[in-house]
Amino acid sequence: MNRVKSFTCVSCRAQYGFLPPTYTCPACGGILDVVYDYGSIDGGRFVHSLADNPDRSIWRYEDLLPVAPGGLRPRLRVGGTPIYRARRLAEEIGLSDVFVKDDGVNPTASLKDRASAVAVAMALEAGAATISCSSTGNAASSCAGCAASVGLPAVIFVPERAPVGKLAQLRIFNAVVIRVQGSYRDAFNLSREAIQRYGWYNRNAAINPYMVEGKKTVSFEICEELGSSLPDWVVVSVGDGCTVAGVWKGFRELHDIGAIPRTPRILGVQAEGSNPISVSFRTGRPMQPGREDTIADSIAVGEPRNPVKAVNAVRDSGGTMIDVSDEEILSAMRLLGRTTGVFGEPAGVAGLAGLARAVREGTIDSSASACAIVTGNGLKDIQTGIRAAGEPITIPPDIALLERELAQVAPSVLP
Ligand SMILES: *Cc1c(COP(=O)(O)O)cnc(C)c1O
Ligand SMILES: [Zn+2]
Repeated sequence: MNRVKSFTCVSCRAQYGFLPPTYTCPACGGILDVVYDYGSIDGGRFVHSLADNPDRSIWRYEDLLPVAPGGLRPRLRVGGTPIYRARRLAEEIGLSDVFVKDDGVNPTASLKDRASAVAVAMALEAGAATISCSSTGNAASSCAGCAASVGLPAVIFVPERAPVGKLAQLRIFNAVVIRVQGSYRDAFNLSREAIQRYGWYNRNAAINPYMVEGKKTVSFEICEELGSSLPDWVVVSVGDGCTVAGVWKGFRELHDIGAIPRTPRILGVQAEGSNPISVSFRTGRPMQPGREDTIADSIAVGEPRNPVKAVNAVRDSGGTMIDVSDEEILSAMRLLGRTTGVFGEPAGVAGLAGLARAVREGTIDSSASACAIVTGNGLKDIQTGIRAAGEPITIPPDIALLERELAQVAPSVLP
């Protein structure tokens, strides 16, 4: 049963019984939040029914999703990503317990698949002929992949700087790819104009309130996996602010229906070179647009569209926000890979970098437990991977030369 009850404006709190055609609040232009008929959902039954549900994808949470039951869905299997208890990682950053939720193993290799799957389902429901979005890269490739799985044409706008791995994905999924000579902001503005002019289905997370609905399923999975040992903190990187809002909404809804006894605090992490939301969080002032200057391309968002939702989410959770440098992000890529075997893209590990810093600075106590969501796969941006970890040893095929190199570079592997 589709239990969507209303749409509430996060800025002026106006309520609407249906989604306005603009997707945003007709009164003030604010972003909307999907509200369900929570009273009609029995938390205990919700959890119980999941135990018997063989579907490991996000559609197992249909009762708390805006899609029509039994409707058309993209064919890719989105969600059901692994969560690892990472003892050596915990030890290295000085925490009692750390979990890593690897969302880089989604079909197009990022958490964005959760939102794009919902977007494509909603586009099919609406009978749309084309879907479109602007994106720093991952929303783009996931939108294109989910659309390709059902033969829905996609028009994608990306900033010029998008890493080549993401561009390759887009082209392979046969999307119409418009690389906008300018920033993400420029790509977003052009997409908004084109979407309005041509009537395409609008997947822009910054506007479409359903995207948060897809993203919240990552928290449903964390709750299902960890049950009563839900961590004290959940850590996620922040660009537009839609992901962190989704992560919090997932926990809050399960708490509201009585499915979990308490909620974790959220640590939202931005890059120092692109941190308008965390500045707004700290100062309490409205968000001011800023730079897009970081290697973490997926969170290089100079003018985030969801700052209110994001700041509210972190605040309501009792959490906080923190910024990390590019050096810390590179270091977190190495740390994660070395201790867990998980390869995250820069934005994918920015959360972990923030967690390490928060522990160092005493913002998070070393007795706490935390779950770091790795939001994107490192193979999307291999240049930065190599930059983080260095080039391999290159030698002619000669055992003497090999031994000399090993003695120098990795003596511990010699007997
Ligand atoms: C999009 C993205 C984020 C941040 O999500 P926002 O909704 O933009 O805040 C973080 N990491 C990765 C890998 C992403 O693709
Ligand atoms: Zn409003």
